[in-house]
Amino acid sequence: MNTIYLDNNATTKVAPEVLEEMLPYLTDFYGNPSSMYTFGGQLKKKIEEAREKVALLLGADPEEIIFTSGGTESDNTAIMSAVESFPAKRHIITTRVEHPAVRNFCKHLARKGYRITFLPVDNQGQLNIDDLVKAIDDDTLLVTIMFANNEVGTVFPIQEIGEILRERKILFHTDAVQAVGKIPIDLNKVPVDMLSLSGHKLHAPKGIGALYIRKGSRFYPYIIGGHQEKGRRAGTENVPSIIGLGKACELAMLNIDNEYNYVSKLRDKLEKSLLKLCPDVRINGDPEKRLPNTTNLSFEYVEGEAILLRMNEYGICASSGSACTSGSLEPSHVLRAMGVPFTAIHGSIRFSLSRYNTEEEIDKVIEILPGIINTLRLLSPFGRDRLQLKKI
Ligand code: PLP
Repeated sequence: MNTIYLDNNATTKVAPEVLEEMLPYLTDFYGNPSSMYTFGGQLKKKIEEAREKVALLLGADPEEIIFTSGGTESDNTAIMSAVESFPAKRHIITTRVEHPAVRNFCKHLARKGYRITFLPVDNQGQLNIDDLVKAIDDDTLLVTIMFANNEVGTVFPIQEIGEILRERKILFHTDAVQAVGKIPIDLNKVPVDMLSLSGHKLHAPKGIGALYIRKGSRFYPYIIGGHQEKGRRAGTENVPSIIGLGKACELAMLNIDNEYNYVSKLRDKLEKSLLKLCPDVRINGDPEKRLPNTTNLSFEYVEGEAILLRMNEYGICASSGSACTSGSLEPSHVLRAMGVPFTAIHGSIRFSLSRYNTEEEIDKVIEILPGIINTLRLLSPFGRDRLQLKKI
């Protein structure tokens, strides 16, 4: 059975070109870039080439990029750097829909006495800029707002937010883990001070990421030790993965427009067909300002886990916002913040596509899923009643 992988916001396949570029640095060239001799020292050049590629994708200067172990470390580092930069201030603004890498770090700081404002979102997962402006006060040391949401794909107005914050001279970090490589980002134009990205969301390996720190911004390292990354992130560099991330960014840069069109066309076909073929389905998220690869659908009167298990029998991979499959005790905090009714949260499924999905795969899901939903609804007393009512 072939796998139909539609969970690319969870992680992605390593691109063959990325693997090819990495392999010699796992086998033959395994030196330490800090070594004096050529066998190790020559790797410094490769790291700098990768840094240039990451910077190019973002419209940044290579000096503004540090390599990290992934999105979580980049997010934690950015927030902690802001806290250390403004020791007299105690207020951070974020949103209710951030990834746990930001959300739980902010909650951790709240336990240490920091005041955190979690901005609400509307029923499409969008922010109200007035809420942000009202929340800012003299004590605010950082605003951290994600570029695009991992669960529903809603893209926030980062340009507008950045302009407001720059005018008020407030440090602005954005978690762009889900946006980088999927939508164009030009940091020459977008006024953010720090931006996080993660390799495994854009066809590089897991365990590698980067943090952009705008030139002139105050910065305090979070991981302290050796002199690597000019003292901004200690630890022997993950050379193969850094090279892989560079290649992944180069590929994203070359293909971003084509890929946007290709993936959004497949996503739209999947979404439209399921809405047509299954009754009582709703789209969660902003239908317009959304990542091209993501659709989050609620199938009323069915459990998300049951849908996932049935899809798994056909090799179809996706994820659900209900508690049991999200690895937490609570159902999706994103869907709850959006005011999605509990019945709809429990039946929510996120499909997230990539350049490696084909139209045949999407057709297969369209062929299989309506039958799964219908069968599951017939098994549930409430769903059965609804189906019978519809027939009358
Ligand atoms: N931020 C967002 C929006 C994410 O989607 C993720 C991963 O799912 C992360 C941060 C964490 O990234 P990593 O898995 O590289 O630590």
